[in-house]
This record gives sequence, C-alpha cells and structure tokens, in this order.
Amino acid sequence: MAPGLTNDPGRFDDAAEATRLVRGGLTRTGFEETAEAIFPTSGYVYASAAEAEAAFAGDTKRFIYSRYGNPTVAMFEERLRLLEGAEACMATASGMAAVFASMASYLACGDRVVASRALFGSCSVILTEILPRLGVETELVDGTNLDQWAEALKTPANAVFLESPSNPGLQIVDVAAVAAMAHEVDALVIIDNVFATPVLQRPLELGADVVVYSATKHIDGQGRVLGGAVLGTQKYVDDHLMPFLRHTGPSMSPFNAWTLVKGMETLRLRVDASCASASLLASKLDGHTKLSAMHYPGHASHPQHDLAMSQMSKGGTVLAVDIDGDKDATFRFLDGLRLFDISNNLGDSKSLATHPATTTHRRLGVDGREAVGIGESMVRLSIGLEDGEELLADVLAALDEV
Ligand SMILES: *Cc1c(COP(=O)(O)O)cnc(C)c1O
Repeated sequence: MAPGLTNDPGRFDDAAEATRLVRGGLTRTGFEETAEAIFPTSGYVYASAAEAEAAFAGDTKRFIYSRYGNPTVAMFEERLRLLEGAEACMATASGMAAVFASMASYLACGDRVVASRALFGSCSVILTEILPRLGVETELVDGTNLDQWAEALKTPANAVFLESPSNPGLQIVDVAAVAAMAHEVDALVIIDNVFATPVLQRPLELGADVVVYSATKHIDGQGRVLGGAVLGTQKYVDDHLMPFLRHTGPSMSPFNAWTLVKGMETLRLRVDASCASASLLASKLDGHTKLSAMHYPGHASHPQHDLAMSQMSKGGTVLAVDIDGDKDATFRFLDGLRLFDISNNLGDSKSLATHPATTTHRRLGVDGREAVGIGESMVRLSIGLEDGEELLADVLAALDEV
C-alpha cells in the first residue's frame, strides 16, 4: 500500500481476528468517512514530470495506474493479508485468475507440477490442458493417498497444487504431510483454500507457501461480485506474482474490492452460522434411506474426519450427498427443493444446490469424474444463512420426491 494511504501500517498485525476483519487495511481520506471509500479511477496524477519519473523508476511508492494498484483494492489486499497472516497479498479479477497467476507467474516451459486430482473443474482444465500446452508437465495423484504423492515427488517438481476440502467431493489432503514432502524437493506448495475459507483453515501454518482464493465465494458470500486473491511471501510476490499480474492485467475492480472489503467484516459470523446449519444437516441426513452416501468433513462418517478436524476448525459450509437412484431421481431431488436454489455458485448467504456431473464438472467426462468420485447422483449443497431447521425440512421434503 502506498504511503499516505495506510494511516497506520502494521497497526493491526497483532489484533484479534474479529478486529482485523473489520479494521484491517482501513484507510480514510481527508473526509474522514466511516466506511471504506471506493476509488473508481484508472489513473493517478503527478505534481511534476520529475514526480512521474520517480514513480516509474520505483524511487517513490505511490499509485501509478489501477492495473498495478488501487486504494480500494489495496484495502482489500491488506485486510485479507492480515487475516491470513501472509507477508503479501495480491487481488485478482476472479478466483480462476488467482489460480492461473499463482502457477503461470512461477512456472516455465519444462517445469513440472504435481497436483491432487480432485479439483474444481476449471483448476483441472488449467492443470490438464493449459499448462501442458505451455510445456509444463503435470501429474495428478489421488490427493488422499500419501504414497502417491511420495511416488510422484520422486521425480523433480517445481510446484505442488492442491485443494482441501475438494470441490465437490470434500476429500481432504494432509496439507502438512504433502508440504513436507514437496519441500524436500524444493517444490512450491500452492493451496486453493476456497472450501475451507480463511477463517476455518490456515494453510501457511500447515506448511503451504502460497494460498489462493476465489473471493467470489465466502469472502463476498452474498452473490454480488467476482474476485480472487493470491497470498505468499514478499519474495514470491515481488519476484514472480506482481510482475506477472502487472503486465497481464487480471486486476480486481475497485467496486468489487469495496464489496469484498465489506464482505470480510461479516465473514466469520456468516461462515460460523453456515457451518452450524451444515453440521445439523449432516447429522440428520447421515444414514437417510434415500441416500447412498453423505460427505461432510465435520461429520464422524467422513473417512478422513480426524484429519479434517486436525487442520480445519470446523467442517465447512458445503456438504455433498449421493442420491440412491439414477440421474432422473437426482434431478427430481434437485427440482423438489423449494428453499435451496439450483445454482453452480457456493459460499453464498442463499443456500444453493448443484449437480456437478452436468455443470461444474461436466468437462471432466465420465472417466474423469469417476476418478474423483463424482457420480451422476451426487448433489453439492452449499449451506447459506437461512434457518437451519427450515433448510433441513426442505432437503427432507425433496428426498421424498426421489
Ligand atoms: C469457484 C472456485 C474457483 C474459481 O473462482 P471464480 O471466482 O469463480 O473464478 C476456484 N477454486 C474453487 C475451489 C472454487 O470453488
């Protein structure tokens, strides 16, 4: 953040999480407004030609152009940086821009990445189609199987990419164990922490080097804007990420940054409330006769429940169910929901139901989906902020239609 824009840099470094979520990065203009200001400007002016020269030479730190930085975006970056406890944070236009930049800024032709197979659909396209086209070799492993990670990391690798819990199957990767193995071969560990959210899982403390977010999900959490962020060391950001973002331009808009800054103020409250309802649903749906499986990391029935609870403080806001029936039966369940909306988004205050096989994970193909346990009877339920008992009643009534 540029001088004159942080009233008191470092002031909230040691503050409690709740305080950082509301106050972190707050910078007031001369009007002393209460709420964070939006700066919808593409550029900035200089008092003299020499000042412009100094700015471009890097001799003075100030805002130059909003593709490089913007005061509202900087507030968002600082607030998330404080929350994550990272050295540096850079915002991006979307979660996918963050995922791509985290790897494309660091890797070169001839490099190699090892990744867990259970990934968000577009992350999987980056790893299996886009990076290979640029000459980056990628190998996918069963993220839950440490032997497979060990085997894959016997061949030199430059980076490891993983998602835990995974979308939509909610598989858990042992982040500390994989990070330790990756660091032995000097691979950069990048984790997509969207499902866990910054308040439930702290990847940097588990050994990850870089954390990426789709801020579109819980950080906004109210279905309004797209956004993303990459967090890591100052060195990673200065040497790799920042030049890549500056020159390729997936910058976050000031309006989106402002929406996300305000979203962060209530992040903990929203995530905790959604987790409570998700737990309620998980406990009541476990063993339901119309379901062949229920996946929720916070429930004892999850095969990796202990691991999940050792790296996450709660089970999360998303659960998945496998309907005991075919695609038609599954669609009847989805169409029978009255309170949940059918949508491919998640982490919203409105509860949303998704059929991954025909939407978000369609592109993987039947075999690709089978390899990560996504069948045509799986439904992903993103639990919002409606009354938990009413959400449960809605799911139970829709199951009657199966
Ligand atoms: C949604 C999502 C993304 C992509 O984020 P966008 O903001 O939609 O670009 C990446 N990873 C995970 C796990 C997601 O759920």
